Amino acid sequence: MSVESRQSSAPARVDEVLARVREAGGRATTSRRILLERLFAEGSHKTAEELAHEVQRIAPDVHLSTIYRNLEELERLGVVTHAHLGHGPATYHLATETHGHLSCESCGATLEAPLGLFDGLAEAARAAFGFEIDPRHFAVLGHCAACRAREAGAEAD
Ligand SMILES: [Zn+2]
Ligand SMILES: [Zn+2]
Ligand SMILES: [Zn+2]
Repeated sequence: MSVESRQSSAPARVDEVLARVREAGGRATTSRRILLERLFAEGSHKTAEELAHEVQRIAPDVHLSTIYRNLEELERLGVVTHAHLGHGPATYHLATETHGHLSCESCGATLEAPLGLFDGLAEAARAAFGFEIDPRHFAVLGHCAACRAREAGAEAD
């Protein structure tokens, strides 16, 4: 498996995304711009509430419901996608970052996995059930290498 899992195409800039929103008949509102800036900023996989807190730090009068509505619209336009990484609420990131997720149930760490990792499963599911899996939508839960090493160490004692 190649280590170069990340999509090499650089994510579009906020202005390019807003241009796309306008082309699709949406409005490039201030709250939408701030929200996109937060999504482009370091650290993806934020919940709607986390994003709302960040937006409200800049524009305190933006309501959580507005954030939800904006996320929904941006998702409909194919700019943003969400993923379920565990038991918590959905997390959002830019659609340009396509990857699967491996989520540790012990420490909560999330690994971004290249979609190719799921090729074998995708083929098997298609062949056996005619089912097309979407590995971007849900995380595969399990235990990360660090936690497994710690658990193995504890057992050895
Ligand atoms: Zn992700
Ligand atoms: Zn979902
Ligand atoms: Zn872990």
